[in-house]
Amino acid sequence: MLKLSIDGDAWRAHLRGVAEAVPGLVPVAKGNGYGFGNARLAQEAAKLGSDTIAVGIPQEVNAVKVAGFEGDIVVLNPWRPHDDAATACLTDPQVISTVSRVEDVKAIARNAPGSAVLIEIATSMHRHGIAADSLQALDLDGLDVRGWTIHLPAAGSVDEARRLATAVAAHPKGSAGVWFSHLGFDDYRALAAELPMPTRMRVGTRLWLGAPETFRATGTVLDVHKVGKGTEVGYHGARTRADGYIVVVSGGTAHGVALAAPATAHSFRQRLIPLAEALEEVRGRVTSPFTLAGKKRPFAEPPHMHSSLVFVDGPGEPARVGDEVPVTVRMTTTTFDEVVFTVPRG
Ligand SMILES: *Cc1c(COP(=O)(O)O)cnc(C)c1O
Repeated sequence: MLKLSIDGDAWRAHLRGVAEAVPGLVPVAKGNGYGFGNARLAQEAAKLGSDTIAVGIPQEVNAVKVAGFEGDIVVLNPWRPHDDAATACLTDPQVISTVSRVEDVKAIARNAPGSAVLIEIATSMHRHGIAADSLQALDLDGLDVRGWTIHLPAAGSVDEARRLATAVAAHPKGSAGVWFSHLGFDDYRALAAELPMPTRMRVGTRLWLGAPETFRATGTVLDVHKVGKGTEVGYHGARTRADGYIVVVSGGTAHGVALAAPATAHSFRQRLIPLAEALEEVRGRVTSPFTLAGKKRPFAEPPHMHSSLVFVDGPGEPARVGDEVPVTVRMTTTTFDEVVFTVPRG
């Protein structure tokens, strides 16, 4: 079993800390729920007292509702005419849709008048949004405009945020408020104090994953086999390169374990890593994310579905069946079999 264990008290203390640092916080629950699952995040958002949560796509709305979240649900991906689920959201009184094109503003005002919406402004991300210089001509009659959204790049620039919010302020509906993403918390508070309209900020990663010491991922050891050097193992008969042990551990491709994370190849060293990994792969020594007997150990073969074959060299039995061993995971691509709150001891 691939398990995520959360120290509930410590994690929740961090969540409350973020909520205090970010007035108008809108927790984001989308995708795999940052490893925790969207239902759990919705419950935590409710516990934090959030009046609003954001999901990525219309198809994620229901899980948040079923989890009991009773506040507003913002859909971050902008409405598009071909998406029936997005269109159904327009008439759902609990949902606020995002609109990012002039033609979509017109279509919604015509076909679903009174829809609660956020109007997205284009930023330097070049993702979605209406150009700031065309805002003054934007006719929003017929829509229930709850605010304007400004989705900045990862390390959002406060100057860009200020410039766009100023453009919003000049619109007759500018006072509805602006919703930011990815500003530094201090920058956000300073900007919020400067701006004439209410502000909100959507946060996912820094909220849920901002205190990585408060949760940990483990795989369960399912089997341990002593093998001699040159033993054929796995689906493809890879040969062990020394005497040692094959340890079968929960956690495989089905969970997203050991899927290559997209690299942001900035440094020369980082560019060399894929090459080094390719060489290691040729030699049959790809480091697995599992720690056994104190070290990350190589895969005996590429992982498959629910478990991985890990090779540990040397004479000493490295683990017992049932042991829970640490595994390094990327939280936004991992699906755990179980997510549990650890019971505090003592
Ligand atoms: C996903 C998303 C967020 C949250 O992103 P994190 O980096 O996880 O905090 C915020 N705003 C928008 C518009 C998003 O799509």
